Amino acid sequence: MSQFSFTAEELAKNIATKSLLNSPNQIVKHLLTDSRKITDAKESVFFILKGSKDAHQYISSVYSKGVFTFVLTNLDFDTSPFPNANFIWVNDSLKAMQQLMAKHRAQFSYPVIAITGSNGKTIVKEWLYQLLSPDFDIVRSPKSYNSQIGVPLSVWQMTDDYNLGIFEAGISKVGEMGALANIIKPNIGILTNIASAHDEGFESRQQKLEEKLLLFKDSESLILNSQYNHTDFKDKNVFTWSLTQIADLKISDIKSSLSHTVITANYLQQSVSIKIPFTNQVSVENAIICWATLLSLGIEQDIIAKRMEKLLVVKMRLELKTGIHQSSIIDDSYNSDFSSLDIALDFLNQQNQHPKKTLILSDIYQSGISTSQLYQKLASLLLNKGVHQFIGIGGQIMKHQNLFSTNSLFFKDTDDFLKNFNTANIKNQTVLLKGSRDFEFEKISKVLTQKVHDTVLEINLNAIVNNLKHYKAKLKPGVKMMAMVKAFAYGSGSDEVANLLQHHRVDYLAVAYADEGVALRQAEITIPIMVLSPEVSSFEALVKYNLEPELYSFRILEAFTEYLENQNIKEYPVHIKLDTGMHRLGFNPNEIEKLGSFLKKQSVLKIKSVFSHLVASDNDVHKEFTELQISTFTQIAAQIESNLKYPFIKHLANTSAITKWPTAQFDMARLGIGLYGIESVEEEKQALANVATLKTTISQIKDLKKGETVGYGRSGVMTHDGRIATVKIGYADGYPRALGNGKGFMLVNNTLVPTIGNICMDMTMLDISEIDTNEGDDVIVFGEDLSVYDVAKQLNTIPYEVITNISQRVKRIYFYE
Ligand SMILES: *Cc1c(COP(=O)(O)O)cnc(C)c1O
Repeated sequence: MSQFSFTAEELAKNIATKSLLNSPNQIVKHLLTDSRKITDAKESVFFILKGSKDAHQYISSVYSKGVFTFVLTNLDFDTSPFPNANFIWVNDSLKAMQQLMAKHRAQFSYPVIAITGSNGKTIVKEWLYQLLSPDFDIVRSPKSYNSQIGVPLSVWQMTDDYNLGIFEAGISKVGEMGALANIIKPNIGILTNIASAHDEGFESRQQKLEEKLLLFKDSESLILNSQYNHTDFKDKNVFTWSLTQIADLKISDIKSSLSHTVITANYLQQSVSIKIPFTNQVSVENAIICWATLLSLGIEQDIIAKRMEKLLVVKMRLELKTGIHQSSIIDDSYNSDFSSLDIALDFLNQQNQHPKKTLILSDIYQSGISTSQLYQKLASLLLNKGVHQFIGIGGQIMKHQNLFSTNSLFFKDTDDFLKNFNTANIKNQTVLLKGSRDFEFEKISKVLTQKVHDTVLEINLNAIVNNLKHYKAKLKPGVKMMAMVKAFAYGSGSDEVANLLQHHRVDYLAVAYADEGVALRQAEITIPIMVLSPEVSSFEALVKYNLEPELYSFRILEAFTEYLENQNIKEYPVHIKLDTGMHRLGFNPNEIEKLGSFLKKQSVLKIKSVFSHLVASDNDVHKEFTELQISTFTQIAAQIESNLKYPFIKHLANTSAITKWPTAQFDMARLGIGLYGIESVEEEKQALANVATLKTTISQIKDLKKGETVGYGRSGVMTHDGRIATVKIGYADGYPRALGNGKGFMLVNNTLVPTIGNICMDMTMLDISEIDTNEGDDVIVFGEDLSVYDVAKQLNTIPYEVITNISQRVKRIYFYE
């Protein structure tokens, strides 16, 4: 596989406004935008993107890892400590990268398909890849790389070895598509659909549609639902499809059985059909889009029909599960190509909960490269990504085993591994499991993961990062971020979430009790941790694990001071909590003088911060009280500062205050519920991504007659002949008994259905008379389409209580897309 490269000098010639080249002949092959994702340091160029003031500080750490070439904006940056480096200054790093990629793209004359739309981009892209692979060598976006950064990184993969490109483009606000269009320059465009995603970035749906269509301004052909067709396209070769209107491909019938759907349509005055191995509505729409695309490319209907029957599930997400012997398993057992391996290895690298990292990998299928080159490349990738142990499975990998370092094992196939590998060797480590589908790595996954019963809480790690970024962007410059991970990270799971937050460089974590902090330290969390409710019995653990207590009263202050004096410890970091109106924990305003003189007299405590907590930052009714809290806090924090004669962090804002009360941001904000996708401020809800989805499944379905009763105490009475489903979640899992007898709802097959009868300890019955569903089907208890706000409302409580009540027996599965 040839790979494009520049010398640093050529790169500078293309984009620089000014440059300083100490190694002008340095070859550059890899575009790097994240200092934590280095693959091949020497041959990388690091683009310092937005927030560049902060990002410049990473130059020295990246340089020390061997990166020589930097694209930057800060003209004042002191380059003298980096004598071998190349510095290329530009006005805007992102634009420079995009321009460079537009030039790269222009070198290739083979066709490029671009896909945009609100939903389905990635599935359509992956299915087109499956459907068109017999005819073309295809280069495509890895995963869902469709952003302002993702698109250039995708297009950079184009080489002469391919003869078709398929890229997706996603936008979240006006003005973004033009740049993507210039990079992709598609010959063929596909619009999937326009739904509500990212509505907040646009004035109207129409504006969003128009922005999306900019992608296709220069393309020759276009495939879309006829409802989006437009007179502007009259010069283009437009292929339309529709369920309802006149179209080139007019769908006339959709029939689903248990495992298949037959879709029939009129095309060129003939009735044609395809059969796909999926039954849900979303898959049907995506398949129709692919069908229309293949027809418009001139592929014969017979061939299309054959290929459609073999469509495979697209699973783009990596799942992080609890494994055997205190290990974590990253399950990516659906595909193995090089770019997705690279992404999965970065995710492995981010997991620092365990000291050791293992990769279990099958043979890799990648066209356009000899196997010896391929495995050579793999071996050096593993060295660069810090994999401690490598297990290769498959005939090809085995043949090249001499390329890999000593700490590697090889098996000829999956059964060989299952028979001969001693799983006791998987202990206290993170394992990435990545294989092509025919290796059936799900068998390995079953052996290495703890048994998960069918009720799971899925945690979307991308959503947490999205929410963190959302609030970070609302902070004034220089304001720090403390993330609240108390109560098992609001039910989401402490180790994994804390690891993610540490990776994304929050400044502080906070837990409720010392033991929560100890667990985080044991999971290799090294950033500062504040403990909200320290107990005298936990002082030893606090100090041993470098946890920083909140001191809220003279009793606890004096006890901790005495403990430190006895241990002969000086300047131990602590936090002082003030009561400005919550009347829960904290020093009262009238105790501040006494506190000041106490603090002045001792040398064992180092005050890291002084803080208080707002009681109603989300509620305008208490506006004046919040103002009073802010001014009281300002005043007494200043009073303490004047006593201490050294600076400390002041903080007051929780989630809703970050946006509603910017004056309460002070030096740091304490982000809690918003991180987990929940907000009480209406305007902010839209911008957050859903984090948690509680899912269960149907164990049994029964037909009942009018008058028959359901469950304990006979409180659920059938008012009609109908059907009920028993699902595997009960009050012991955290589904409250108060939601029984029709008070609660779950989503089955995208339809809300009520509970019937009393909730049991481990089970709940649902009235499914009105819908079509099967035993074994998934049921959503809450998530994206049935929000936890609604569940909380039915319970007369707040979402905080619902999410933190999900019991520990419900396994958490983390995913990353
Ligand atoms: C829980 C907590 C927060 C976070 O509040 P949210 O409303 O979840 O953002 C902030 N500060 C303190 C002291 C807390 O206990």
